[in-house]
Amino acid sequence: MKKIKLIYNPYSGDKTFKFDLDIYVTNLQQAGYEVHMFRSINQGDIENHLKDIEKNFYDAFIVSGGDGTINIVVNCLMKYNLNHIPIAIIPSGTANDFATFLKLPKEPDDACKIIANNKTIPVDVGLCNDKYFINVCAGGLFANVSEKIDKNFKEALGKFAYYIRALQEMHTFKPINLKITNSKETIEDKFDLFLILNTSGTGSIKNLSPTASISDGVFDFVGFRNVGIANLPSVAIKYLKGEYLEHDKILFFQDKDITIESIEEVYTDLDGEKGPKLPINIKNIPSAIKVFVE
Ligand SMILES: [Mg+2]
Repeated sequence: MKKIKLIYNPYSGDKTFKFDLDIYVTNLQQAGYEVHMFRSINQGDIENHLKDIEKNFYDAFIVSGGDGTINIVVNCLMKYNLNHIPIAIIPSGTANDFATFLKLPKEPDDACKIIANNKTIPVDVGLCNDKYFINVCAGGLFANVSEKIDKNFKEALGKFAYYIRALQEMHTFKPINLKITNSKETIEDKFDLFLILNTSGTGSIKNLSPTASISDGVFDFVGFRNVGIANLPSVAIKYLKGEYLEHDKILFFQDKDITIESIEEVYTDLDGEKGPKLPINIKNIPSAIKVFVE
């Protein structure tokens, strides 16, 4: 019998996933799986649990949670050589950018149908210094937004909390001096914000990078040059309309290896969690994991 490991956090998002557990188990048993569960309640417990798993014991993983939980599981898959095991994602967190990008359903019956159909796609993973990410590495304006959000605020406002908090952060931000090196050139300038995107959205902003593909082996780099808070929204709108290539306030390129340095102390944000401090080197690991899709 095939074995599947279901990882969930009972407190994530609207906290309703746990009420559907029996529906999941029933559906997965019918699809030929023996279901093992891991209920995550403390920081670090998923990592402690996954690091000792035998490489060929499981046929699949299911992760119920938001981008933060998926980021933790992807880091474990990569670090402990479990990335040959396909993962199914049930979007149940506060921010579900990755699942939204892949149009993954939240309803138990639909989610289980996807697993039963056994169709997976290869997905690139980013390595930022020694940490992996799947959606985005951001620096500047949006960096560290999610960790500053009060837990109650996050629960009350859901995904909008990220965006609102980001706007509040704008009052204190200042442009940062960056030295950006890709495989063709080095660019030095002042930037308000940079994003290195694997998927096309972050912080509830959809289609931030209309061209981003999750399995092309390259990232979309988008840097907003020193335009100031007042002008940033209009420049961003131009970018979203696809006018970014001719806009001199936006630096856009695609690459699989990007290094970013700064003389200032700049922290990054990986998938909404605190990332490493600059300097960073980012590598695209093509088709690193397999994800169940419709
Ligand atoms: Mg890509």
